[in-house]
Amino acid sequence: MSAQTLETIVSVAKRRGFIFPSSEIYDGFRSSYDYGPLGVELKNVIKKLWWEEMVVKREDIVGLDSAILMNPKIWEASGHTSAGFADELAECPQCHKRWRVDHVEGKCPECEVALGGARKFNLLVRTHLGPVEDETTLAYFRPETAQGIYVNFPNVQQASRMKVPFGIAQIGKAFRNEITPGPFTFRTREFEQMEMQWFCKPGNREQGTGDRNLKKNEKRSDRRSLNPDDWFMYWKEQRMRWYGDVLGIEAGHLRFHPHGKDELAHYAKAAFDIEYQYPWGWGEFEGIHNRGDFDLSNHAKHSGKDLAYFDEETKDRFIPFIIETSGGVDRALLVTLLEHFDEEEVRGEKRSLFRFPPWLAPVTVGVLPIVRNNERIVAKARDIAEDIRKNAIRFFYDETGSIGRRYRRLDEIGAPFAITIDFQTLEDNTVTLRGRDSMEQQRIASDELCPVLHTKQQAP
Ligand code: ATP
Repeated sequence: MSAQTLETIVSVAKRRGFIFPSSEIYDGFRSSYDYGPLGVELKNVIKKLWWEEMVVKREDIVGLDSAILMNPKIWEASGHTSAGFADELAECPQCHKRWRVDHVEGKCPECEVALGGARKFNLLVRTHLGPVEDETTLAYFRPETAQGIYVNFPNVQQASRMKVPFGIAQIGKAFRNEITPGPFTFRTREFEQMEMQWFCKPGNREQGTGDRNLKKNEKRSDRRSLNPDDWFMYWKEQRMRWYGDVLGIEAGHLRFHPHGKDELAHYAKAAFDIEYQYPWGWGEFEGIHNRGDFDLSNHAKHSGKDLAYFDEETKDRFIPFIIETSGGVDRALLVTLLEHFDEEEVRGEKRSLFRFPPWLAPVTVGVLPIVRNNERIVAKARDIAEDIRKNAIRFFYDETGSIGRRYRRLDEIGAPFAITIDFQTLEDNTVTLRGRDSMEQQRIASDELCPVLHTKQQAP
């Protein structure tokens, strides 16, 4: 993928209504972006598929939606107010721009002069709540959804009567005062995460070997014998599989990046990033972390509350270890756009398209009456569209322009199917069903349409 691919994606994303620069009529705002009609649809689909995978289809994970603004003591306990959650910055003596030391090689990328000494810059976004602006009203926008889960561990565990090992999942916005945002939506100051925190019993082995090939809902008695390292390996594989099977990303564009000792975050015992081959190189879009008992121990210490778990069967009392899967919604969406975008030549003409799998596509089917000046055809097309709408299938009705142009417009937004209502439809109630990738057409009875499309819209 070339750097040009990114430029193309940025312009295609805007033109077709996936992603707009925020506040555009005021010349934009600090690397903020807005999701347009197709973007929000795609984002919702990604989140829904993640939620189905992580919560709906499992017996051992429950959901949560915690507040963005929480007691500031949480961020002290988690280490976010201190040096642990800070980037090292160095200033250019010439242009006075500040750069992240780990992103540049000692020189200002614009002026090419040596940068000054580095200093730490905390990434928390601050605000004041209430009428006075002083230390007592200081609050932070959460930099991750994870802490809302940790501090709710006893509430969720008791209310849902879940037994360790189990997980809590959450999707929501997070904020970081990033110094060098970009490219595009890869790094922004406001973003969305989909995170799952898995609580399990501490074990005595240091590193997992990944030798346990677990099934999703393996019997509880077997699962209890697993230690955090086994779960770490399990979740790492599960998450990688999901990106391949559900987001349809080619295996060759994905890799694990294990964190070396110098890269590990302040809380982590072990970590792997799942990386994608972006046009500018390999980069993270989900992290799998073995956080040990860092989080619950620290919150117990700072809050003075007992956060230990009591295992009724074994009569053990312990602070659970946490394995975290932390993905970015915006990065997953960017990866989806980059992965499925394609340009090809068809009969001497350029065709540009997104090859989204049908379950992911923001529009599943285009409904096209062959002509728009025939009342019977238009009425029939409207009837079929109505049926599709009632079946909650994402569709787009289009009657303007030649049929060829309309197919191209659907290709451009990645709609995997198009149906055409023509004169034969009035006689035998069949329509043509065209596939985006093969561009082949077949005739299908219009009553079979919804069941067929419905099946195609189901993720594996
Ligand atoms: P990076 O070093 O690439 O900024 P990170 O290692 O700080 O990321 P984590 O703290 O592990 O990221 O966050 C988990 C996930 O949240 C990331 O994999 C990414 O998908 C998403 N994420 C984190 N920061 C941002 C951001 N500023 N903009 C968009 N997504 C983000």
